[in-house]
Amino acid sequence: MEDIHVSKRHPRAESIRIRERLTGHIETKVLALAGLIAHGRGEAFDYILGEETTPSAKTAITAAAATLLLAEHPVLSVNGNVAALCAEEFVELSEATGAKLEVNLFHRLPGREEAIEAVLREAGAGEVLGVDGSATARIKEIFSDRRTVDPRGIFVADVVFVPLEDGDRTEGLVRMGKKVVTVDLNPMSRTAQFADVTIVDNVVRAMPLLVSEAERLKASSGEELKRILDAYDNARVLSESMETMLKRLGKLSERGVYLEPSEG
Ligand code: ATP
Ligand code: MG
Repeated sequence: MEDIHVSKRHPRAESIRIRERLTGHIETKVLALAGLIAHGRGEAFDYILGEETTPSAKTAITAAAATLLLAEHPVLSVNGNVAALCAEEFVELSEATGAKLEVNLFHRLPGREEAIEAVLREAGAGEVLGVDGSATARIKEIFSDRRTVDPRGIFVADVVFVPLEDGDRTEGLVRMGKKVVTVDLNPMSRTAQFADVTIVDNVVRAMPLLVSEAERLKASSGEELKRILDAYDNARVLSESMETMLKRLGKLSERGVYLEPSEG
């Protein structure tokens, strides 16, 4: 897919390029229409956050890498949005942590699993779970028809990485006793609130950082990784992300009009 031309001076040039990538994936079936709406919800929070990775998001990224490296059966859950936005980084994270890749969809429309699997394979993935009718296990903790998972993957996992996930399903995973790591721009979403480690950042910015953190920490001992997690406080990370948004809006609210039209 070719990127459209966006002027470098456009204040949301990167965001427009990402939108273009997502809308292109409607045609490939990787993305359901609801995925576009979910992305828009995330973008609104990114706007308020300042479109930067905050220091507390970096703390959460370190804890996320440690959690995945300490896990016995870690699984990276892939949906349409993350396949469209960061398939390469998912494959790299899976290689760095030994976690399995599982396609886990809210909307299992015909052709979607295959399309997402193809994107993952193109990004270099080997084993891909949750496809070809292999999502046969039912999570009884999730009360909807969107609860099937792979018996070799999420069903038996101790740690599940579920970026951009719906709250009902996250709650189901937590009730099953799984540790949940997420990336979610909205610190108030149920997923952000229920997870053990919440990276409040755009998944596009967070994934490369998470991959390098996992590669850096890979050589650490179990004791060192446990120490990182003992010192980690997800509630504090969530508070800090809310505070960043609050402070930024507070500053802008002193002026109300703070943008000037550019010349010619
Ligand atoms: P919940 O079900 O957890 O209460 P919700 O119903 O408000 O959340 P969903 O559409 O179920 O929202 O979940 C998608 C989540 O992904 C949203 O919280 C949204 O902010 C977040 N999101 C969307 N795009 C991105 C992105 N690019 N990076 C990070 N987070 C994103
Ligand atoms: Mg939801």
